[in-house]
Amino acid sequence: EAITVQELANRMAEKGADLVKSLFKMGVMVTVNQTIDQDTAELLVEEFGHNITRVSESDVDIDHTVDVDDEATLKVRPPVVTIMGHVDHGKTSLLDALRGTDVVKGEAGGITQHIGAYQIRAKGGDLVTFLDTPGHEAFTEMRMRGANVTDIVILVVAGDDGLMPQTIEAINHTKAAGVPMIVAITKSDKPEYKPQKIRERLLEHEIVVEAMSGDVQDVEVSAKTGAGLDELIEKILLQAELLELRANPDRAAEATVVEAKLDKGKGPLATVLITRGTLKVGDIFVVGVHSGRVRALHDDKGRQIKSAPPALPVEVLGLSGVPMAGDTLTVVDNEARAREVAAFRAEQATAKRTTSAPTNLENMFSALAAKANVIDYPVVVKSDVQGSTEAIVQALNRLSNEEIKVKVLSSGVGAITESDVTLASAANAPIIGFNVRPNAKAREMIARNKTRMKYFDVIYHLTEDVAKEMAGIWGPER
Ligand code: GDP
Repeated sequence: EAITVQELANRMAEKGADLVKSLFKMGVMVTVNQTIDQDTAELLVEEFGHNITRVSESDVDIDHTVDVDDEATLKVRPPVVTIMGHVDHGKTSLLDALRGTDVVKGEAGGITQHIGAYQIRAKGGDLVTFLDTPGHEAFTEMRMRGANVTDIVILVVAGDDGLMPQTIEAINHTKAAGVPMIVAITKSDKPEYKPQKIRERLLEHEIVVEAMSGDVQDVEVSAKTGAGLDELIEKILLQAELLELRANPDRAAEATVVEAKLDKGKGPLATVLITRGTLKVGDIFVVGVHSGRVRALHDDKGRQIKSAPPALPVEVLGLSGVPMAGDTLTVVDNEARAREVAAFRAEQATAKRTTSAPTNLENMFSALAAKANVIDYPVVVKSDVQGSTEAIVQALNRLSNEEIKVKVLSSGVGAITESDVTLASAANAPIIGFNVRPNAKAREMIARNKTRMKYFDVIYHLTEDVAKEMAGIWGPER
């Protein structure tokens, strides 16, 4: 099981930056939003002198413990699937058609609710969860926020068309995430359907499907006639089995927010996907910087349910505010604790949000490709006082235009530290120092990484310099 550096830092009540620093010393180059594996996490916990508790209690944040579920408590959980592909290639139609294969559909009498995700029971009785927002933007947005909820990606390619720009982007995003892919060649009912052509084109992107003796599963489907849908579900289940997806259902719940909104009548609503444990009505929780108590749970068929096990998407009522997609919901013991944790997170929220940008070059390039024409200009900002930092960030944001956008990866007060350099190097961003200098260790790293540094003591000079550089990237006349 992987955990983001920030999550681990929260659980240990340490600064994310300090963990990044230690990891760096261990030769692991990551930023706070990237994940590390369990072994590395345990090493780090020991390094910081904390205890590793292998218990099934929910111990979050300030407790100086990191709870890792014991092997024996883990049970098989359903896979979580995201559908990606080019516009008009049939993603929505396929999601609808797959939903229609649910064997419990109809008998419950519930009305389909679009809550951001749904779960079906396949013919053999197995469950599969689908995220209802197709496309790679949502997928990557979640990943950048440290939420890796997708287990399997279905790449939809219309068999009467070809590999289109968004198909390629979807391939790149899936590869960057290291998530296994199943290729669904859709619209098999059409006379112009040429699946073999698609398989051949996929080779150019190093995707060798089964039909070409490779190891990526592929399937011919039609959302219109339903042909191939059962085979697609079988392949999803086969892939899920290979992944050995497991979670401990018998513990306080943790979940990831998939979608959230403010409902006029019901107040803040969030659809969450349970990642471990079971969420129950009455549970007290923290979600992002908000807290709450579960007033009611609704499934995607609009039914009220009393509890939600791993991988089940549910709509939660009873939040104090609207969280963000990718936020973690954690059940805690009591309200005092919930408020404490929420306050702790609120404090960290600014820093966390500003670091949710692309964290390495590969990500940055795929993010660039995703946004088609908008180019990000990433920067790291450090100054001597909070007021200056805020003024600089505001001034920089005003430099953004339709083609190029300033992206403040992180902003803070004080000397430039190693973690600033790590973040900047990963994104190939310059560091802007306003009345501050790097500390000794950061200086070493800057030299080693050839990180670009910009020092100023007048805000106007700073914005002028950045504006010039942005114009240089995009061309001044545009
Ligand atoms: P999306 O943009 O990828 O979500 O694509 P849609 O699901 O909206 O489908 C785009 C168009 O293709 C719509 O007009 C659909 O009716 C049509 N379409 C989708 N799947 C199929 C299919 O399997 N067969 C046929 N004949 N048309 C399809």
